[in-house]
Amino acid sequence: MIKRGAALRAAPLLIVLSSFRYGIIAILRYIAETLNQTYFQSEHLLFDPATPDHDAVNIVFAFPNTYTVGITSLGYQGVWANLATRSQINVSRWFTDAHEDLPRKIEILGFSFSWELDYVNILAALKKFDIPIDTCDRTDEHPLIFGGGPVLTANPEPFAAWFDIVLLGDGEELIGNFLNAYQEVRHASREIKLRHLAKLDGIYVPLLYEVTYESDDGAIASIQPIDSEIPSTIHKQTYKGNTLSASTVVTEKAAWESIFMVEVVRSCPEMCRFCLASYLTLPFRTASLESSLIPAIAKGLEVTKRLGLLGASITQHPEFDLLLDHLAQPQFDDVRLSLASVRTNTLTEKLARTLSTRDSRSVTIAIESGSERLREIINKKLHNDEIKQAAINAQAGGLKSLKLYGMAGVPMENDDDIDQTIEMLISLRKIAPKLKLTFGCSTFVPKSHTPLQWQGISTNAEKKMQYFRKKLLPKGIDFRPESYKDSIVQGLISRGDRRLTKLLRLACSYSDGDVPSDGSYKRAFKELRGQLPPLAWYVHEDWDVNQVLPWQHLRSALPVETLIKHRETSLAF
Ligand code: SF4
Repeated sequence: MIKRGAALRAAPLLIVLSSFRYGIIAILRYIAETLNQTYFQSEHLLFDPATPDHDAVNIVFAFPNTYTVGITSLGYQGVWANLATRSQINVSRWFTDAHEDLPRKIEILGFSFSWELDYVNILAALKKFDIPIDTCDRTDEHPLIFGGGPVLTANPEPFAAWFDIVLLGDGEELIGNFLNAYQEVRHASREIKLRHLAKLDGIYVPLLYEVTYESDDGAIASIQPIDSEIPSTIHKQTYKGNTLSASTVVTEKAAWESIFMVEVVRSCPEMCRFCLASYLTLPFRTASLESSLIPAIAKGLEVTKRLGLLGASITQHPEFDLLLDHLAQPQFDDVRLSLASVRTNTLTEKLARTLSTRDSRSVTIAIESGSERLREIINKKLHNDEIKQAAINAQAGGLKSLKLYGMAGVPMENDDDIDQTIEMLISLRKIAPKLKLTFGCSTFVPKSHTPLQWQGISTNAEKKMQYFRKKLLPKGIDFRPESYKDSIVQGLISRGDRRLTKLLRLACSYSDGDVPSDGSYKRAFKELRGQLPPLAWYVHEDWDVNQVLPWQHLRSALPVETLIKHRETSLAF
C-alpha cells in the first residue's frame, strides 16, 4: 500500500504520467482517424450502397489484416458490397489499422479469413470488441460471430471454438440465404438462432457437433451432431452463374495500387493432386466474355488504367484468345495489364506480346518440378519441352522476366528429381538468356479435400531448399524460397482438429500479440503434452486413409472415395 505522504509526493509524477498517457492515446486516435480518412476517402466505389433502414441489422465485416491487404482481396470486396447493397443491413468495415464508423451495438461480426496466420489478428479483434473468445462463453448480449473464406472452407476445425457460424463455399448466394434465415430468428435467443441457421445448406455451427477421440493424444474417433435435428454433414456451396467477381472498389491504397480486378475463371480443371485451388472449388467455371467480362472491364477502366485478370487457371478460359484480342485494341493502349499465374503450355508468344505492350514485364508459370516423373505423380500434365517453349515465347514476346514456381518435399520425390529441376532451370537460362529467371519454391503442405491430404510434410524439405539455393544462385537464377517454418504452421492448421484451439491461443500468449515464433508453438506443444497429439503427428506423419479426418463431416466437391483413388494412382508410380 502507498503511504499518504508518499502518495502526495508521487502525485505530480502521476499527473505527468497520466498526461503523457492521455497524450499518447490522443496521438494514436489522431493517427487512426487520419488513416481512416486517407484510406476510405481514396476509394472509387463501383456500386451504389443502399441507405440502411432505421431497424437495419448492424454488421461489422472485418478483414483480420491491414486495410492495404484486406482491400486487395476480391472475396472481401465482393461480400462487403453484397452486404452494403441491402437496406436491411448497416455494414461497417474493419481492418487492423482502420475502420469505418462502428455501430453502438454490433449484432453480427463477420471475418473474411484468407491467410492462416491471420488467426492471431482474429483473436486480437475479439478481445478489442470485448467479445468472449470461445463461442460457448457468449450470451444473448454478444454479437453472432461468423467467418468465411478459403482458410475456413478448407478446414475450420482448429478455429471451431471461436466461430458461432462458418459459411462454407462461395458467398454469392450463401450470404443472402444466411441473412434471410437470420431475419427469421433475429429476436430469438442465441441457441434458437444457431439451431435455425445450422439447418441451412453451407452453414456450419461447430458448437452443435461433438468430436470424440480414440485417446486424448490419439486420432479422432467420431464427429456427430449433438442431436437428430442437426444435419450430420454440411455441404460446401457452389455458385453456378456465369458472372464471376469483379472489383467493387478501386483505390491507390490497395497492395496492387489502383487495380481493377476481374475473375476470369473459378477453380481449375487440371486437378494436380496437391492443389486446394482446384479440388476445393470444383467444378471449373468460366465468366461469360460478352455478358460479364467485357462490360465489367469497361466499367472498371472508367476509374483506373490498371487491370488484373484473376483465376487459378485463366488461360484455360475457352475464349481467352478472344479476350486477348479485345485487350489488344487501341483504346487499351495505356492500360497496364497484370495476370495471375498462367498455365505453362498456354504461354504463347501472342500472350507474352500482349502483356509486354500493356506494360507488364514478367509472367509467372507454375512448373512444380523439372522432373517428368514427379509431375506425373502429382498429375501436372506438362512436358519439359513445353516449359522450354514457354521461356522461348516469353522472350520472343518481349517480356523481361519469367517467374517459375516449384515445390520441395513432394511425396515420392528423390534427389534425382531435385537435380532435374536444377538442370531444367539452368537450361532455360541458356535458351532464353535475355530473361531474368526467378524460381519461387514452397514446401509441399498437405491440404484438406485433396488426394495428398493424407501425406505428411517431408522433414528434408528445408535441406532441399538450401541445395536449390546453392546450385541456382551461382548460375544467375534468383531463388525465392517460402519460409519452411511458415509451411509447418500451415500444415498444422491445414490438418488440425479442435484440440489445436487451446494450443494456438497458448502460442499467441507467448508471443505478446505477434505471430508466434516456431519456438512458441514448440513450447505450447510441450505444455499441453498428453492433451493432444504431438506436432509431428499433425504435420509430418502420413495418415491412414481410414482415419476419421477433422473435416470428415464437411463435404466438398468430390467424395473421399474419389480422393483415395486419385491418391493411389499418384503413389503407384
Ligand atoms: S494447374 Fe495450377 S491451379 Fe490448376 S490444378 Fe494444377 S496447380 Fe492447381
